[in-house]
Amino acid sequence: MVEKVIIIGSGPAGYTAAIYAVRDNLDPLLIRGFQPGGQLMLTSNVENYPGFPSILGQDLMEDMYKHVKGLNCRVIDDDVTKVDLNIYPYKVWISEVEYETKSIIIATGASAKWLGLKNEQKLVGKGVSGCAICDGFFFKGKDVAVIGGGDSAMEDASYLSSLAKSVLLIHRRSEFKASKIMQERVLSNPKIKIMWDTEVIDVLGNNKLSGIRTKNNKTDETIDLKIDGLFIAIGHSPNTFLFKEQLDLDEMGYIKTHDFTKTSKLGVFAAGDVQDRHYKQAVIAAGWGSMAAIDCREFLTTKI
Ligand code: NDP
Repeated sequence: MVEKVIIIGSGPAGYTAAIYAVRDNLDPLLIRGFQPGGQLMLTSNVENYPGFPSILGQDLMEDMYKHVKGLNCRVIDDDVTKVDLNIYPYKVWISEVEYETKSIIIATGASAKWLGLKNEQKLVGKGVSGCAICDGFFFKGKDVAVIGGGDSAMEDASYLSSLAKSVLLIHRRSEFKASKIMQERVLSNPKIKIMWDTEVIDVLGNNKLSGIRTKNNKTDETIDLKIDGLFIAIGHSPNTFLFKEQLDLDEMGYIKTHDFTKTSKLGVFAAGDVQDRHYKQAVIAAGWGSMAAIDCREFLTTKI
């Protein structure tokens, strides 16, 4: 059987694409991935998704999934391991199982970035974390640091301040990139101290994080700080490793699109954070998902 459309990814873009594709009688196959739900599963309250003044990210994704399931969309909870976009119909594999499809909507999103320091990966799960919401609980009453100056760092610092004894927010410049409202929340929180113009140059500890070495970018002064938890919140990189050398990607690895959601291969569309290096908002990803489904329907009904 050749599928009409396979949708890869289960953030707001993937779910919205699925909703539109089902309603357009495209009978999509949605491959949600092994850990479905995308980045909103790792966030706390979402307060900027229209219709939901305040909702937990996990609850919002669960609602989207229920919407999709309610439409009887076919869903697989596993990771795509390989794609071949050089033959048509296109091929998609989940381990040894092969699927053929006339079109694909890629909505694989983006993942948290790491600092890239020698000791960092060794201590992930042993004091170093990329997800305050997931791991914050383990640092109740402890001293933690958050790295970054964007909305993620503000959100993480605010969230951790409700659990930890102290929160040190370390940013490499002297002003934040985050939205004003989130900056203000952090700046007015007495439990959060800010270290401006500072980078973390080493993560200390053998089997457990014991501290960090920081360097002031203006004075070059280095200091060792004792902390129990280090939360990295410095942005994301797109999940495009499956498509390298098969689709045009930009220099940061995001899928290049033209005419809205079209990629460099006919019948392959991209939606959400995997192709959006600027806005990265759930509501925008959902919009891209609907656009990709509409573009896909047009492709399936007119181009083949
Ligand atoms: P951003 O790219 O917005 O910010 C990343 C931050 O990390 C920047 O301040 C950057 O510094 C810093 N940084 C990057 N690399 C390094 C490094 N190697 N060492 C030290 N610092 C580094 O990412 P976010 O994840 O914060 O946000 C992404 C998008 O998601 C944004 O559009 C944001 O608005 C949105 N978002 C919205 C939320 C909400 O509304 N509830 C919550 C979280 C995210 P510099 O400033 O110097 O570039």
